[in-house]
Amino acid sequence: MEKRITGRTGMFCLIGTPVGHSGSPAMYNYSFAQTGLDYAYLAYDVPLEKTEEAVNALKVLGCKGFNVTMPCKTRVAELVDELSDAAKLIGACNTVVVKDGKLYGNNTDGMGFVRNLKENGVDVKGKKITVMGAGGAATAIQVQCALDGAKKLSIFNRKDEFYANGEKTVKKIQQMVPDCEVSIHPLEETDALYAAIKDSDILVNATKVGMKPLDDQSLVEDVSVFHPDLVVADAVYNPKETKFVQDAKAAGCKVAVGGIGMLLWQGAAAFKLFTGEDMPTDEVYELFFK
Ligand code: NAP
Repeated sequence: MEKRITGRTGMFCLIGTPVGHSGSPAMYNYSFAQTGLDYAYLAYDVPLEKTEEAVNALKVLGCKGFNVTMPCKTRVAELVDELSDAAKLIGACNTVVVKDGKLYGNNTDGMGFVRNLKENGVDVKGKKITVMGAGGAATAIQVQCALDGAKKLSIFNRKDEFYANGEKTVKKIQQMVPDCEVSIHPLEETDALYAAIKDSDILVNATKVGMKPLDDQSLVEDVSVFHPDLVVADAVYNPKETKFVQDAKAAGCKVAVGGIGMLLWQGAAAFKLFTGEDMPTDEVYELFFK
């Protein structure tokens, strides 16, 4: 690395807090080196109230692009010059490209989800999809699936903190993607959830259920609703294979994937936006995600 960095090396980074645990610097620096690009990537701990100052500083320093993590994603979406359709609908940015002093905001979480399914032979276009969750990951998945041609989206969330967010997502998708039939229902209505699953091509868990310390739980308790044609995907990547995914596999679902692929492909989508090049995803997966 010390041999690689010169006076001309371009800078990319991550902002948000906490960032100390982030795998992004290792992933991007490895990929820059592998693709022969004279760039370097750092992580900066930035609290919400310092977001605007940090973004202005990055502009002054000629930063070429940056990723954004919690809690700065929504604030950054307000600060950029232009937003992609997905970032506009989600109302949050995780990837900003700086070009000629202008900031272009994107959200690659949903792109990562859709790409991961594609890598597993599944296209969301024309599909009926049930998504459990209405938080950050769920919204990104719902919006990207709608933009990419999903026929029907049924959203389920507890009548809790994020339900109102789900209602907003429904309204936004109805306005921007009228061809997609979208609705939200309380997760407590188990009969409605199971009926939606039986009628769906794809079932997604985008809640924290399944993630440590909820790793002994799945929101689908009646495993008989996992029909063989159902594609099952989890956003949770810690553990790599959740109870939800294990149950779906045991029930014979044709595809059942965890969230690690979504994580890999959202990074690859950001790398493409930053550099125009493909991330060496096979090597990155082997080194940092396995
Ligand atoms: P978030 O914005 O805080 O949303 C959390 C979601 O989980 C909300 O819908 C919340 O609904 C629901 N939830 C929490 N506890 C629940 C419970 N006990 N029962 C039912 N629902 C519950 O979090 P997030 O950023 O979307 O993250 C969600 C999961 O996705 C995490 O495991 C995260 O690591 C993962 N993720 C993965 C990727 C990837 O690339 N694979 C990217 C982002 C996030 P309530 O209103 O009921 O609280």
